[in-house]
Amino acid sequence: MASLSTSAILLRSYPFSETSQILRFYSESHGVVGAMAKGVRKSGGRRGGPLRTFSEGILNVQFRENRDLQTFREFSTTKTRPGLGADPARLAAASVLGELLLRHGEGEGNPALFENLGRGLDRVEEANHTSLLPSLLGHLWSLIQGLGFGPLIHQCVQCGRSFEDDELGRFDFGAGGLRCDSCQAATQGPRIGPLAREQLGSLLEGTPPEVLVKPLVHLRLASDFVTYHISGGTPLRSMAVLGDLIAREYA
Ligand SMILES: [Zn+2]
Repeated sequence: MASLSTSAILLRSYPFSETSQILRFYSESHGVVGAMAKGVRKSGGRRGGPLRTFSEGILNVQFRENRDLQTFREFSTTKTRPGLGADPARLAAASVLGELLLRHGEGEGNPALFENLGRGLDRVEEANHTSLLPSLLGHLWSLIQGLGFGPLIHQCVQCGRSFEDDELGRFDFGAGGLRCDSCQAATQGPRIGPLAREQLGSLLEGTPPEVLVKPLVHLRLASDFVTYHISGGTPLRSMAVLGDLIAREYA
């Protein structure tokens, strides 16, 4: 067994017994890492502060390949992101980013994805009522791209023709992108007009538009895409929580 030390973000923790917790991290060097932490529930981290979800720092575990739970030694936090816990919608949005990576189960080190997750959590923590969904969706789509599932939206997934500026496409989840006007009879997916396509393009590039038109429709699209391609046919639980909170605000 080797000692592993890596930058990591705590994505989830749940009690295992009176004194133990199971922790799931997204790490820079090994993707998702699970760890069993004994004796941390009352005192918080052994030497660091309390173990707060979405905090970031240096994780130290006794590591063995192909083991679901590593032996936790220490997590020294450098950033705790307290603003996420202060607002239910921000917390739900952060949970969407975390759950995406946990459900995908990425077990390879991917420093770019790690950095992207950290930046996404920072943006969500700073977000206000108006910027929350654009910030979340920009990072959600770029994490999806980083996992290798980005949709094709500038040309038709069926015939390969580039979209006209004013053309209406239809999203085909199975094919992983938009179908053009002549090829859309084969799908029942949502219609995507020129503005929605342009805004989706900006989100995919990680540069959210200042004003996202129909944010709930964009949220639904991203959720359905993740359900189809990454989370095995069941929507992310945090996506449902976020959808309810946001729908209430917009109602
Ligand atoms: Zn076509």
